[in-house]
Amino acid sequence: MINTADVRSRNAKVSNLINKYMRPEHLPTIWCAGCGNGIIMRDVVQAIENLGLSRNDTIIVSGIGCSSRAAGYMDFNTIHTTHGRAIAFATGIKLANPKLEVIVIAGDGDISAIGGNHLIHAARRNIGLTVVVMNNNTYGMTGGQYSPTTATDSISPTTPFGNLDRSFDIANLAFGAGASYSARGSAYHVTQTISLIQEGIRHKGFSIIDVASTCPTYYGRENKLGDAVDMLTWQRDNSVTVEKAAKMTPEELKGKLVIGLLHQNQYKEFTFAYEEMIRTLYKEREGNE
Ligand code: SF4
Ligand code: MG
Repeated sequence: MINTADVRSRNAKVSNLINKYMRPEHLPTIWCAGCGNGIIMRDVVQAIENLGLSRNDTIIVSGIGCSSRAAGYMDFNTIHTTHGRAIAFATGIKLANPKLEVIVIAGDGDISAIGGNHLIHAARRNIGLTVVVMNNNTYGMTGGQYSPTTATDSISPTTPFGNLDRSFDIANLAFGAGASYSARGSAYHVTQTISLIQEGIRHKGFSIIDVASTCPTYYGRENKLGDAVDMLTWQRDNSVTVEKAAKMTPEELKGKLVIGLLHQNQYKEFTFAYEEMIRTLYKEREGNE
């Protein structure tokens, strides 16, 4: 039986964030050594800490997959839902109480394959959710099958001769569907990713932060990308900022990861518009009585 007090005292030497925001009785995580998901979960927690959000008013919603286990480790009001449906649950929570900060943590398969329709319609609706995608280009939990973000020609158990599909750019897909904040980070770029998540939470409207994660166990091994350090080193050496990318040709940008704030717009946020409509209807009814 785990003694939570002991774990908290041991963790105090490591990080205050663990004691303040995590459920030590559920740690260590099930994630493989070198998985990028732990880094990105920590980025989310740091963004929450930096913004001074209340644990009670912050809701973490996840679907199914390696990344979705984050909701179990984080000590907020959390809900670990069904595959692809995190945004549907999050929409209900936000509509029931628009004052809550609702953060969805999802994998690339979960959010852009089975949950793809929820993603594009929530983006179109511009509902005030923050979606953090742990994008490792694979279905890690079920054995490394190819996902909508697996690169063309990549090898996986379901594309043993190379993936024929082109991959989704999740951040731009959501922007095209109407998201008013879309950004990209990486597991390597911790400081930048924390600040992109922070700004995404502060933004009033649908925010998505697509964060390149690493899955050395499946994607890395199948595609001979080396170990976890090699994969993070690749992110370091192949990322270009939005500002730098603007000066590069499409040819120069091939195979690069463009990181930073990609798009931000101001449209009316859905729950705000919904409340406004209700107030107007009540006023009209009172006027008619
Ligand atoms: Fe991470 Fe991949 Fe292991 Fe899942 S299978 S925990 S994504 S390294
Ligand atoms: Mg994945």
